[in-house]
Amino acid sequence: MDRSTTNEFTTQTATDPVPAARRAEMLANPGFGKYLTDHMVTISYSAEQGWHDAKIGPRSDLTLNPSTMVLHYAGEIFEGMKAYPMPDGGGALFRPQANARRFNKSAERLAMAQLPEDSFVAAVRELVRIDRDWIPSGGEAALYLRPFMIGTEIAIGNHPSDSFQFIVIASPVGSYFKGGVSGVSVWVSENFTRAAPGGTGAAKCGGNYAAALAAQKEGAAQGCEQVLFLDAVERRWVEELAGMNVFFVFEDGSIQTPPLTGTILPGITRDSLITLARDRGRTVREEPYAIDQWRADLESGRLVEVFACGTAAVVAPIAQIKGRDFDLTIGSGGMGPVTAELRKALTDIQFGRAEDPHGWVDRVF
Ligand SMILES: *Cc1c(COP(=O)(O)O)cnc(C)c1O
Repeated sequence: MDRSTTNEFTTQTATDPVPAARRAEMLANPGFGKYLTDHMVTISYSAEQGWHDAKIGPRSDLTLNPSTMVLHYAGEIFEGMKAYPMPDGGGALFRPQANARRFNKSAERLAMAQLPEDSFVAAVRELVRIDRDWIPSGGEAALYLRPFMIGTEIAIGNHPSDSFQFIVIASPVGSYFKGGVSGVSVWVSENFTRAAPGGTGAAKCGGNYAAALAAQKEGAAQGCEQVLFLDAVERRWVEELAGMNVFFVFEDGSIQTPPLTGTILPGITRDSLITLARDRGRTVREEPYAIDQWRADLESGRLVEVFACGTAAVVAPIAQIKGRDFDLTIGSGGMGPVTAELRKALTDIQFGRAEDPHGWVDRVF
């Protein structure tokens, strides 16, 4: 079996890239995921050839046979990361090896092929290099990178796919929330859960997001922007939002976040914030937190700030929590001082404004 090297990419430059003036317009007001860059990376996998045909080329549509497995059985995993503009005009990734590692864990859970970590990182770096003019600057704008993999075997029968396509696309992004970083409102779903023990909650797969949308819709009908999921067994323990982890800040300055027991997505932002908070001498507990405790702690004043975190939105304060029989405001409804401190500590490293004591910043150019 010839498992050819996948770190050398055949490069074909786009012949009709977006004109510079139009690109500048897009970068000035990128939204989130509205525009894609000129190029994409693709690497193919087959049982016979292993990973092969690593290419960087003009972004193009995919052509799929209607019986392609991903279209029927949701064999899809993805990652979300950003290339940040550096003060000296360069560009850098943030902990890309962690994304590569998590990608393979997701692949394992969905019975998909393992992509060597260095191929994953090389693919992302190649795309950032060729589309470097698409990295926006100013505020917290960055180039969002979306590596993903689909099962491409042509078969209606359900079994692990024997072929895969790994793809990386990129999109310039501004602030994730339209209203900037003012507090978000959160609906506590009683009717839906996101992940059960033994399920796919810790895998970054499209299916988890598809299954969360009905809850999202339910929350929107209640005037809430996000949904908070409780554990599937007792319907009591706080897990996370559909795409963000959650942190609690207490009166004594300590911080708590639910532990990674297999039903929560192990966020890289979550992990980085735990480290940064401990660096600053804060006590951080990775311990379960019950919804009834949350309500009691809000009423007693012991709980002072709550925030959600993830690569896309970075750190977003949660200002309001609403359920079937309660509706509570957290703090002043805006960004609390500890949330602001941790958010700044993280973004200062990501954007190259502060020292990087943990070696998280990976310069691409
Ligand atoms: C991606 C994701 C997160 C955040 O992970 P980061 O690595 O911090 O971006 C949290 N929860 C879910 C369900 C996710 O898919």
